[in-house]
Amino acid sequence: MTTFAELGLLPTLVQTVTELGYAEPTPIQAGIIPLMLAGQDVLGQAQTGTGKTAAFTLPILHNLIPDARYIQTLVLAPTRELALQVARAMKQYGRGMNIDILAVYGGQPYEPQIRKLRRGVDIVVGTPGRMLDLIDRGHLDLGQVSTVVLDEADEMLSMGFIEDIESILKRTPGQRQTTLFSATLPSDIRRLANDYLHDPQSVTIARKQLTVATISQRSYVVSERYKLAALTRLFEVEPVTSALVFARTRVGTGELANELSARGFPAEALHGDMSQASREQVLRRFRDGRSKVLVATDVAARGLDIDDISHVFNYDLPTDPEVYVHRVGRTARAGKSGVAITLVTPKEHYRLRQIQRFTRQPIAEAELPTEDQIRRQREDRLLTEVEVWLQRGRAKREQEMVETLVAKGYDPLTVAAVALKLARKEEKQRPIMPVVAPAREGRRYQDRPRRERRGRDSRYDDRRPHRRDKAISTTSHEKGMVRLTLSLGRDDGLRPNDVVGTLAYQADIPGRTIGKIFIQDQQTWVDVNEAYVGQILSRNEPYRIGRKAFTVQLAA
Ligand code: AMP
Repeated sequence: MTTFAELGLLPTLVQTVTELGYAEPTPIQAGIIPLMLAGQDVLGQAQTGTGKTAAFTLPILHNLIPDARYIQTLVLAPTRELALQVARAMKQYGRGMNIDILAVYGGQPYEPQIRKLRRGVDIVVGTPGRMLDLIDRGHLDLGQVSTVVLDEADEMLSMGFIEDIESILKRTPGQRQTTLFSATLPSDIRRLANDYLHDPQSVTIARKQLTVATISQRSYVVSERYKLAALTRLFEVEPVTSALVFARTRVGTGELANELSARGFPAEALHGDMSQASREQVLRRFRDGRSKVLVATDVAARGLDIDDISHVFNYDLPTDPEVYVHRVGRTARAGKSGVAITLVTPKEHYRLRQIQRFTRQPIAEAELPTEDQIRRQREDRLLTEVEVWLQRGRAKREQEMVETLVAKGYDPLTVAAVALKLARKEEKQRPIMPVVAPAREGRRYQDRPRRERRGRDSRYDDRRPHRRDKAISTTSHEKGMVRLTLSLGRDDGLRPNDVVGTLAYQADIPGRTIGKIFIQDQQTWVDVNEAYVGQILSRNEPYRIGRKAFTVQLAA
């Protein structure tokens, strides 16, 4: 087995990884480090969790020219979270060296990033969109870049970043070293590698399937405040024989267990702070089937070894894909099938995709049961129960009671109906909690690739493109919207997409908060959600489209 020292890395890097507790290189590190040290281009097929960040970072740091104060390395990543994560990891691996690493991504003001770039940095990690913007504005000098890493390239491509990536690569020196990582190798990734990598060496780390095929995995998109309602709705319709619900915090487990119990699904909490005795009691009741639902934190569920769990619920999405795998692996044990259900807020969508790429198994996005479906389900369940008892026939005393009522002249059908009504009394105590479907907020506007930003825009009604400036009201007719005026118009070549793109991007507001747009010859009217008006008007720098500066004011 190779050691980090045997890979030929600088002693300070070997020391750092030893301090971090890395006993030996992971397979991807053992594969990639020697190739990168030898100056080769590399096509790495590996996912998060394999140690790929250190695999490209260590050789980059090894080759870095100290105190140069110019950009030597670019790392492109699909999202700001990943860019930050990579930058953090790189800083950690480089802590024994005097290097500066800057993360750049959309949704942040340009100024601090530009200031740091002016002072000089060695490595820039960022999302393609923001990186290209900084290059376009002349703040990123790529003349001396010697290494470029494309991390999670398939994800970047699926987000539409291809043009930005190619544009960036074209502006770096031709003799650079390029490393491309991708979990999958579809044809567009191969083409990218073909066009921009020089005789690349492939390193593939196969990952065994991590979740069992007999687990049916589903997710439900729901905002945080409706999660409990969503969970209880699912409990209504799912054939739960025993369930493990994972919540993030100790307090969360207690509250959730109480809430579920109050809604007719008796549940117990299991958390790390419990005494050993009460923990064992709770577990025993669960194992015996006396309690069917256990709400636990990851820590508390450690070492829990129970085979018969029909459902695993992720009330909170785990941050680490490994944790997801660990959680859902609690069901479908011993040859049985199981269901893993994950509640995910609109903002967490990306993480869900990360998990799917990690497990290489789909998590189907499903719709929550409606009130009607739940009502029907409740009725079906009651009727099934009645039928079971009809077949058993052991209701002698009740039969006599019915006969008494019939003797009094009541219709047997009516008696049966009223009896069912009484049986449903308890159910009436459990109203079905409303769930409002989240407006599919999606990614924040500025994190979207520019191709998307430039795309179609249904907000704009341009059916009368040739009509000259008509009288437009200075107030918006829509509730909660405020009308603003921009000092640019049709004569400046302004298009609706420019308006949305520029305002959203430069004011750092979500694109969906922008409403109607009326482009006139020399000015433009835009309706904006009132909550964002202050932010738009308080921007220190002028707004710009291309080189053209313009002002934004309240329409008056
Ligand atoms: P990555 O795939 O780069 O996200 O890394 C996954 C995790 O593995 C990180 O938490 C690293 O700190 C850790 N890691 C990376 N390399 C090693 C290694 N050689 N030995 C042990 N852990 C490692």
